[in-house]
Amino acid sequence: MLSNYLFRVSIFVFIPFVFEIAIRLWQGTLSLNFGTIAFAIALVNIIPFWTFPKLKKIWIWFYFLLFYIPTLIEVCHIFLFVGDIGLFALKAVFETNVSEAQEFIITLLNPKFMGFFLPTCSIFILALIFALRDDSEKHNSKWWQKLFIVAYVIGLGSSCFVHDKYKPVAVRIAKAFSYYLDEKKFIIESISSRKNFSYGDIQDTLQTNEPKTYVVVIGESANRDHLSLYGYKRNTSPYLNQIKNELAVFKNVTSAHCQTLEVLKEALTFGDFSQGDVISFFKASGFKTFWLSNQFNGGRWDNTIAIVGQSADVSKFINQNDTQATHGQCFDKLLLEPFQKALNDKAKKKIIFVHLLGSHSVYKNRYPDNFEIFKDKSSKNLRIISEYDNSIAYTDWILFQLIQKLKSQNNISFLLYVSDHGEDVRDIPGCTFFHSPDVATPPMFEVPFIVWLSPKYRLMNQQFIKTWNMNKPYKTDKLIHSVIQLARLKSKKAKRKESIFEN
Ligand SMILES: [Zn+2]
Repeated sequence: MLSNYLFRVSIFVFIPFVFEIAIRLWQGTLSLNFGTIAFAIALVNIIPFWTFPKLKKIWIWFYFLLFYIPTLIEVCHIFLFVGDIGLFALKAVFETNVSEAQEFIITLLNPKFMGFFLPTCSIFILALIFALRDDSEKHNSKWWQKLFIVAYVIGLGSSCFVHDKYKPVAVRIAKAFSYYLDEKKFIIESISSRKNFSYGDIQDTLQTNEPKTYVVVIGESANRDHLSLYGYKRNTSPYLNQIKNELAVFKNVTSAHCQTLEVLKEALTFGDFSQGDVISFFKASGFKTFWLSNQFNGGRWDNTIAIVGQSADVSKFINQNDTQATHGQCFDKLLLEPFQKALNDKAKKKIIFVHLLGSHSVYKNRYPDNFEIFKDKSSKNLRIISEYDNSIAYTDWILFQLIQKLKSQNNISFLLYVSDHGEDVRDIPGCTFFHSPDVATPPMFEVPFIVWLSPKYRLMNQQFIKTWNMNKPYKTDKLIHSVIQLARLKSKKAKRKESIFEN
């Protein structure tokens, strides 16, 4: 029979395990593997209490630091952000500013979180107190029991070598931390190596004292054949349709790749970083640059975007977490407020980049309930297509909001919207959903390319606009040249023949 002593320490050891399992069950990400490995690790941690009961207090504090505190932090993180602690959480902790920290504290103080945190914390503390109680009946272990400490060392040691997602939480956090430091070093080096980049003479051909505000919106996974503006059967772009006369809709634009990073590292640079990029070019042209993003910032896969984005005069990354981005709900409308702030900025020449989360899978997490417009769910395929179309309709509304805000400034302005790449939403029979270079299909590359021009811009550029060819075949790997031409800037670096606006 279990002695009182072992009963108490077992409860203590199993509390973090129970909470990890419960929060993942609630989140819907619990796997059998995770449950089994976490259970095995908890079991292994009883060994030292059993083999060396005299050292109970040392074991308690050891376990407390290695499992209690990290697990408590992690379950709170999962509760708040629907994802494990990783690079993104660490970035949020170490790179936050005062106002963001204040906002975060306000989030923490909300009743829902407190309703979770206070009972959880109390249970953790009670189990600790319970375990720390003096035990008159602590047993003396036999010599053969002491040998089990070898099993403990092997068990705990080997738990560090299982797949990352099954590692004990303290090990996962430590790993994410070293990854974070690496990443930070890489980005700082990349940014500073580009500081003195020179573009020579840049000429602004629109000589005027009027303020200029240019906007480039980078969409995500938008397949143009799912926009009614491009002839799609469902009315997925009612807002853009409404202002059709103010738009230039280019019909023959494709992305050179079907993955975000691959596309943007060419589209935002003159080929690659060593050649210069869109932010440093506009800075050199005397523009104040803004980068507003609802995409995740960090991770090797989006280094380029992080480097370009962070080098803007003002950069704001709304999304805190990759899991939150893909499975949680971080809607693009959160970009509207920072966008308005950027518009209100006093600088006379501004360029604002807006990076949407758009139609990034999981589609149903990309729009709020009131955008559940298409509801055909009679089969799995139709349900996914409906969800995708709803995300397109939501992006249509976002674009309309951005245009209205920009319009009310009455500046010399354009808004260029282009998606990073397309998406195959079972447009090709038998094909899988999403976008992947391994099973590439045309819809993964066919992107919307839409330009809105302000009346003042139109008036000053009548000749230029007249020559545009809406059917010109164009690949977005040369996008930077188009943005520069649209901004009416001239430089040796920018090649007109690479621009979509050059006929
Ligand atoms: Zn993408």
